[in-house]
Amino acid sequence: AATLYVVATPIGNAGDISLRALHVLTIADAVACEDTRNTGHLLSRYGLSKPLIAAHQHNEREVAERLIARLQQGERIALASDAGTPAVSDPGARIVDAVRAAGLRVVPLPGACAAIAALSASGLLDDGFHFVGFLPAKAGQRETMLAGLTAVRGTLMFYEAPHRIEETTAALAAAFPPERQIVFARELTKLFEEIHRCALADAGDWLAQDATRRKGEFVILLAGAATDTDDRQAESDRILSILLEECP
Ligand code: SAM
Repeated sequence: AATLYVVATPIGNAGDISLRALHVLTIADAVACEDTRNTGHLLSRYGLSKPLIAAHQHNEREVAERLIARLQQGERIALASDAGTPAVSDPGARIVDAVRAAGLRVVPLPGACAAIAALSASGLLDDGFHFVGFLPAKAGQRETMLAGLTAVRGTLMFYEAPHRIEETTAALAAAFPPERQIVFARELTKLFEEIHRCALADAGDWLAQDATRRKGEFVILLAGAATDTDDRQAESDRILSILLEECP
């Protein structure tokens, strides 16, 4: 039946595609994707070849109309982005919104997502999380946004490009308490995967020590306001205030 399948694709390691995703890519009449060259290359790795429809940030609305017309003819269409889960810091949400609004079926095919992969291997406590994605490039806008995040209790998740990793780390260090834990999850699922966790106060030095630490694709996780440290501090403050009240 006519369906738009939202298909997660690997974020580096071609093995990270689900059997179900491969099945859907096999039966789909067409694949709408961010970059036809990338997705064509990905499909060829699995021995597949499909008509590809370019669906990127700048043409999502008009592509949505074309996809809706095809779905109304009973087609099955897969929607993929360059890497990971569509609509997560990637195009796709507008298409999904329009297809749903047209009363057509949308089915997600879960799979790789860089932020979730980073979180799962970070050891940060499960106090919930807040996905930020890419911060604004302009310093003023970035500072305003970070100031609004300092009280968030869950882990903060950021995406960053290598050329801005130092600047962003410095901005985080300026906005958050130095004892907050930060995790750099670099090149996940790839050959030079690295996951480093330290106090925010030490993050700039760690990055500066070795140029390879500043290369590749990054997820940055920052422990939320409700860390162990904060809880212990709150508890000792509470005990101290009781003691002070009791003291003559
Ligand atoms: N839709 C993708 C997802 O589900 O994670 C995210 C796409 S976004 C345009 C690209 C950003 O995701 C990169 O700049 C980086 O921050 C992060 N990313 C993607 N692949 C990664 C990887 N293998 N390791 C670390 N970060 C990655």
